[in-house]
Amino acid sequence: MQVAVIGGGFTGLACATILAQNGVDVFLYEKNEKLGGLAAGFQELTWSSTLEAFYHHWFKSDEHVQRFAKIWNAEEGLIFKRPSSVFQTEDNGFVPLDSARALLQYPELAIIDKLRMGAALAYLKFSKKWRKLEKISAEEWCTQVMGAEGFERIWKPLLVGKFGEHHASDVNMAWLWARLHCRTPELGTYQGGFDAFVKKAEVFLQRNRVRIFKETEKIQLERTRQGWTVAATNHGIQEHDAVVIAASPRAFARLASAHAPEHVAATLGQPSLGVQVVILALNQKLGEHYWYSLKRTALQPFLAAIEHTNFVDSAQYDGENLIYLAKYVDVKSEEWKQSDEQLVDWALMSCRFINSGFHPDWLIRSRVFREEYAQPIVGLNASRFVPPIHVHGVPRLFHASLAHVYPWDRGTNFALELGGRVANEVLKIKKR
Ligand SMILES: Cc1cc2nc3c(=O)[nH]c(=O)nc-3n(C[C@H](O)[C@H](O)[C@H](O)COP(=O)(O)OP(=O)(O)OC[C@H]3O[C@@H](n4cnc5c(N)ncnc54)[C@H](O)[C@@H]3O)c2cc1C
Repeated sequence: MQVAVIGGGFTGLACATILAQNGVDVFLYEKNEKLGGLAAGFQELTWSSTLEAFYHHWFKSDEHVQRFAKIWNAEEGLIFKRPSSVFQTEDNGFVPLDSARALLQYPELAIIDKLRMGAALAYLKFSKKWRKLEKISAEEWCTQVMGAEGFERIWKPLLVGKFGEHHASDVNMAWLWARLHCRTPELGTYQGGFDAFVKKAEVFLQRNRVRIFKETEKIQLERTRQGWTVAATNHGIQEHDAVVIAASPRAFARLASAHAPEHVAATLGQPSLGVQVVILALNQKLGEHYWYSLKRTALQPFLAAIEHTNFVDSAQYDGENLIYLAKYVDVKSEEWKQSDEQLVDWALMSCRFINSGFHPDWLIRSRVFREEYAQPIVGLNASRFVPPIHVHGVPRLFHASLAHVYPWDRGTNFALELGGRVANEVLKIKKR
């Protein structure tokens, strides 16, 4: 059996891995010059590690990362630590909010609200019943169960920060449950950066005779009686028994809208946000923490600042202090059109909220990254809108993307799980 996997992000890598392990001839097509998708990184000349274009870490509970690290012989490079995360309060100070103790010490809530919130968080941590939580918005559930004050002070800024004023009240409670249920304060990264982890996957795939084609911008799919032909620029035409598109709904639409118009209409119809990320390399530390949850205001548009070098030693980056500032944006809005210069200016202004002594002279260089499809917005009863993996009515065509990850929030761990799941669906054809 011969299968084309289009998309070399974590989903495609996992899918190719499981297929290859089961004796399938796999052709992996990636439009970029390297594998890794949204988790791929870059490296300045003086650095000894790569840096992810979009901030990335794992959680201790990310079982599929551990599983694939074992398959790829990559376990040695996994690193877990407990970096500090802080939350911006009403008076613009920062306090930790990543443990029961931190919640009890939180300054801006009455003890009764803290107790209510503590009980609600304990319930969310232990309950597995997310299905009834998708029937209610996060705003309504938190207000009812934790109290209006707790919602307004803590959860509303987080929801508005991530989804914007316009979409914050749409998000269902299962989304918040998923984030609180399985995340740990211990965070993981990879020795040398996520690219080094992906390299291990690539070596495994090559050893298992997966043919990897990169920079395949133009791919044409044609149906045949037995399956598909895949024509890729510079890489010829191949016949395949099945095709897996392991890429965003927009990428799927570009590749297969002629073959699966209904699937395309349904997936593109689901709301999502793009992301704009500024990376600042500074000659001084900005602060002491790794993760700063920021209040999004007219003067400060970012939802978070992430000081990567308070998690990974700055020695790996030639002593540079690396800070990400991120915001999720509607790609149809004017804000999406902001130039790199404008975004960097905003980022430099936002640094002052973290450290009032910050001076723009600290800047060594900056980079800006954008991704159009970065965060699905999961509204009420979102499980009904999760697209099928095996595209309805189109034999031997499969689709796996962030839109297929639910109720969990997007993440490389769930991309790996999804890649394994789609591979198992493809293998059912082989067994028939
Ligand atoms: C800002 C941000 C922060 C994140 N933080 C974290 C985090 O801290 N931890 C975590 O685990 N996850 C995080 N994630 C999520 C994580 O990046 C994704 O869940 C995961 O990378 C998705 O993998 P994927 O393979 O499904 O999709 P993608 O990574 O999007 O991979 C799809 C691949 O398909 C390729 N492709 C598209 N079209 C074509 C075509 N026509 N031909 C060939 N190839 C094509 C793309 O180039 C890409 O390589 C974050 C995401 C974002 C945007």
